[in-house]
Amino acid sequence: MPSIISPVGSPSLIAQGTPVAIPVTEPVTPREDLLDTLPEVECVVRARIPTVSGTEIFLHLYRNNMDQKEHLAIVFGHDIRSRSLDKPRPNETEMDRMIRGAYTGKLYPGRKASGLDGTEPSTTASSSSGRTPTPNLSKPKNTLVRIHSECYTGETTWSARCDCGEQLDEAARLMGREGSGVIVYLRQEGRGIGLSEKLKAYNLQDLGADTVTANLLLRHPADARSYSIATAILLDLGQDKIRLLTNNPDKIAAVEGKHSEIHVVERVPMVPLAWRTANDGIRSKEVEGYLKTKIERMGHLLSH
Ligand SMILES: [Zn+2]
Repeated sequence: MPSIISPVGSPSLIAQGTPVAIPVTEPVTPREDLLDTLPEVECVVRARIPTVSGTEIFLHLYRNNMDQKEHLAIVFGHDIRSRSLDKPRPNETEMDRMIRGAYTGKLYPGRKASGLDGTEPSTTASSSSGRTPTPNLSKPKNTLVRIHSECYTGETTWSARCDCGEQLDEAARLMGREGSGVIVYLRQEGRGIGLSEKLKAYNLQDLGADTVTANLLLRHPADARSYSIATAILLDLGQDKIRLLTNNPDKIAAVEGKHSEIHVVERVPMVPLAWRTANDGIRSKEVEGYLKTKIERMGHLLSH
C-alpha cells in the first residue's frame, strides 16, 4: 500500500484502544457556505434500546423544517436530555409523555407518571430495580460526539468499500466505555447523493474512478452532505461544547456552524482498526483506495 501520510501529520494515536485527543485551536475551514440560520429541529420520540454489547442507549428521532427525513441522535448515558422532547405540549396526558419518551428514570409496567413534573428522582429510581448506577469519577466535561451519515451498504450489507460500519461501531464502543456521548445519525446516504446514485458511483469505481471522480462524473459534488441539522440537534441536546470524533477538518467548522453556535474543543481521531490491529478491521483493496482518496483528495487527517 502506498504511503498516505497526513499532510499536516496527525500525532501518533493509540494507547490501549483510546485515540489521543487533539485540541482544536482555530477554525480551519471557511464558513461562508454554511447556513445563516440553523434549521428548527424537534425530537418527536425517544426510546431506550438495550444493545447486544450490554450498553443501553436512548434513540432520539427528530423532525426538522429543512427536509422530510427522520434524522436520529443515539444518546449514551442518562444525563443528556432533549429540550424539545421535554417541553410540555398542549393537551397531552402523562401517558402521552411516557409514550413519546419524555420521562425521567425508567419505564416499567404499571409506572405512574409522577416523575414528569420533576418530582421523581431519576437516577435513584433505577437502584430499586436492582441496578446500581456506576459512578463515573473520571467523566470528562465535554461530551464525545460523532456525526455519522447513513451508509446502507457499509452498515447493513457488510460492504468493504468503505469503513462506515466500523466507524459507527468504534464511536459506540468509545461512548459506551465513557458512559456518555452522542452519535448524530444523519440520513444522507452516499455523501448526500442517495443510494441509487451511490451504486452507480460504485460501478464507475470498478471501472477505475476513485470515489471523488465517480461522483463528479455523475455530476454530483464530491461531498453533498450538510451538517446544519446535526448542529441544531446537538444544541437541542444541550451540547454546545463537544469533543468531535472525526478525521475530517471540514466537519469541525461545519458542525460548529456559521456563527460558532457550537465549539469543538477537541478533535478525537478515528483510526481504522486494520491499521492498529493484526486481525480486526476491514482489509480490502477497495477500502484502501477509499481511505487513500479521503486523505489525498478530501483533506482527511490520518496517518499510519
Ligand atoms: Zn460507507
